[in-house]
Amino acid sequence: MRIYNTLTNRKEDFKPIVAGEVRMYACGPTVYNFFHVGNARTFVVCDTIRKYLEYRGYKVKFVQNFTDIDDKMIKKANEEGTTVKELGDRYIEEYYKDADELLLKRADINPRATEFVEDIIGFIKDLIEKGYAYEVEGDVYFSTKKFNEYGKLSGQNIEELQAGARINVDDRKKDPIDFALWKAAKPEEPSWESPWGNGRPGWHIECSSMASNLLGETIDIHAGGSDLAFPHHENEVAQSECRSGKQFANYWIHSAFVNVNNQKMSKSLNNFFTARDILKKYDAEVIRFFLLAAHYRTQLNFSLELLDSAKSSMERLYNAIYNLDNLLEAVKEENLRDDEIEYKNTLQGYKEKFIEKMDDDFNTADAISVLFDLVKDINCNINNNSSKEIVEYALSLIRELGSTMSILQRSTKQSLEEEIESLIEERQKARKEKNWSLADKVRDDLKARGIVLEDTPQGVRWKKI
Ligand code: AMP
Ligand code: ZN
Repeated sequence: MRIYNTLTNRKEDFKPIVAGEVRMYACGPTVYNFFHVGNARTFVVCDTIRKYLEYRGYKVKFVQNFTDIDDKMIKKANEEGTTVKELGDRYIEEYYKDADELLLKRADINPRATEFVEDIIGFIKDLIEKGYAYEVEGDVYFSTKKFNEYGKLSGQNIEELQAGARINVDDRKKDPIDFALWKAAKPEEPSWESPWGNGRPGWHIECSSMASNLLGETIDIHAGGSDLAFPHHENEVAQSECRSGKQFANYWIHSAFVNVNNQKMSKSLNNFFTARDILKKYDAEVIRFFLLAAHYRTQLNFSLELLDSAKSSMERLYNAIYNLDNLLEAVKEENLRDDEIEYKNTLQGYKEKFIEKMDDDFNTADAISVLFDLVKDINCNINNNSSKEIVEYALSLIRELGSTMSILQRSTKQSLEEEIESLIEERQKARKEKNWSLADKVRDDLKARGIVLEDTPQGVRWKKI
């Protein structure tokens, strides 16, 4: 298996520290709001990588944190007249609702930064003792220049960073590029006791602390959105490696942005769609299909039209499942016929191809194309004359490959019913708007698929003919 490593800027063979096991850390959400489709992409990408590694036989320990203390949290809590703790509790609960609906497998551990303050303080003490950090009036800063390799992850040059940082000089720092590990408490802010007085941790140190505490000083994979590579991850590397003297993470994976009209989807630009709103209109599998139909390192444009087209693409895959389900009841022969042995190998070949694509830096885009090729082949070659065994094999193959992305897992009965109900709704809406041609089209399309609609006083009913 090969993974594109941001640290080296190339694809590398994946070799975990302990054979057969993977320790993976992903930066999770700041819990002051519902998460949006951009965040969802990063979560879905991490979830898919984890599931695929498990599919390939690795035992994965996956940690994703909650940032539940930072400036945005404090500001939002003040605006709402609530505490940072209550705000965090509430949005963690909301996160789980949306994440579960999006079919994200829960992490083995979801640590909260505020639960790790003691560990963070110990971490900072170690850095001060080793001469990598210093205290000024209750703040603690990291001496960036003391880490010779600073910039190695994001490819930044320390001199250029210094030149840039001089624009915003903070007198208390020894060097403009030093960053805060600990922030002295301001009035009305939540704070914890520390050797440097009351205060709170900086953002970067929390992930270094939680990752090393829960997964060890060197982990296999560290992941997050590409906006985090600098400064967040660069600073994580500096802090962690200065403390342990060891490499922090062997593979760094960064997923590209979801954009809206070529601008990053973000809360601050107010161009975002929450995952929750989109989940009201689209099935979770459709959203996952949309997010995974592009490779995770390419930027992805978001629009409702693109989601609609993802929906119809996925319906094509479901149609094949639906046909196979029906064939299971129609076919007469139980066991694989001699002339089907070779065809079973052909189908097996698609599985190999799928694995080859996913093994190549989790190329979900190409893997999904393989699914379409597989389905096309099945549609052409499996029919009433096939054996039950080959029908079952084809069906289980589609399901198995889809499971690595958590798509194509719904029962066709359920998905067909849902689809028909939503088409009926569309027709009702068209009728209300006196759009008779659209209403007739929906009815005719359904009829062509063997489904007739009956208008009754209790509403529209449908049946199969
Ligand atoms: P936040 O809650 O802003 O800390 O973000 C949580 C995760 O979502 C981080 O890994 C971010 O890098 C990622 N993220 C934020 N915005 C986007 C976007 N537009 N596209 C992809 N990932 C994003
Ligand atoms: Zn982080």
